[in-house]
Order: sequence, then structure tokens, then C-alpha cells
Amino acid sequence: MSDVISLLKESEAMLEGHFLLSSGRHSDRYFQCAKLLQYPDKAAAALAAVAERIREDIKAGKLAIDAVVGPAMGGIIVAYELGKQLGLPAFFTERNDTGTMALRRGFEIEPGQRILIAEDVVTTGKSSGECAAVLEALGAKVAALACVVDRRAQLPEGKPGTADIRWPLYPAARVQAANWDAADCELCKKGIPAVKPGSRKM
Ligand SMILES: [Zn+2]
Repeated sequence: MSDVISLLKESEAMLEGHFLLSSGRHSDRYFQCAKLLQYPDKAAAALAAVAERIREDIKAGKLAIDAVVGPAMGGIIVAYELGKQLGLPAFFTERNDTGTMALRRGFEIEPGQRILIAEDVVTTGKSSGECAAVLEALGAKVAALACVVDRRAQLPEGKPGTADIRWPLYPAARVQAANWDAADCELCKKGIPAVKPGSRKM
């Protein structure tokens, strides 16, 4: 996993500092996995250990998968790469005109088909959950979730700061990233200015 951290850092997919997230919350880390996934060799390297763990669990009879599905945009390349490494079809769900997650482009689910959901970053599990709901409504069984970065944080009170993830999770890396309400941000208290990622060169 430490190798994956190096890949994230060297491709600037993980930035350390003081960030204003799109959710309005503040964090000491920012992830843009597309920066890593733009390099096919790095994408393959980052996901090799995930594919290996999944293969082992399939061999041990703990897991069965028929296809890999990622929620767009973040999940598309991760799904493709895992599909390639596992020898499985890979496709994606995406938002329709009204913003609802849907299966489009003629992609089909067969009843009982066992799905591995693929994501770039799992923060709350929200987009994976939306993707799963679409697939389950079509009769699929979600077997597991894979991601590049599991960045689920603990809230200060010790409550898990995340929605429940109902499936076994296979992350390439786990990174404890602080995630504060703007009013409680430790970095704001120190007077460090917050940066909106992507808004300027960092
Ligand atoms: Zn702050």
C-alpha cells in the first residue's frame, strides 16, 4: 500500500495542505485520482494488488464476480483496469439529464449477475451506493467494492464519518484524511488560508 501512496504523490493525485472541498467541508488532503490514472502503467501498478486480493478471494470461494461497474466519471478507468486485470467485462453507470444515476448506452444487467463496483476515491460511499441501487434495481447482486483510495475519516466524536458500506471493500490505499466542518477546521484556527483545488496552480 505504501507504493500506492508514492504513486499518488508523484503523480500529484494526492495533495497535502488546506483544502476547501466541493462539499463545503475542509480537509488537509485533496485527491484527484485522474492525475494518477492518466498514466496507464501507474493505473495498472496501483490496482495490481487489489486485483490480486480479489483473485485470491475468488479462488478461496469467498467472492464471485461476473462484471466490474464504475460510477462515472471517477469509476470508469478503475473499472476498466480491474476488468482488464481480472479478465471480466467492465462498464459504467452515469447521471442522466435529470442528474439521476442510470445505466445507459445499451449496457445490460442479467438477473443475478454478480458485480464488483469500482471507484477512484471512497469518501462517504455515496456514489457507490447510487451505482449499486441502479444495478440492484435491474436484478444484479453487488458482491464487493474496490477503490484506489479509501479516505473515509473518523469524525472528532469518534463516530464513523461515513455512510455504511454494505460490501467487502478492496482499497489500493487507505489514507486518513481529516475532514472538518468549516467552523471547526483546525487549519482555519491556525490562520492557514484554504485553497479550492483546481482553482489555481498549487
Ligand atoms: Zn479550514
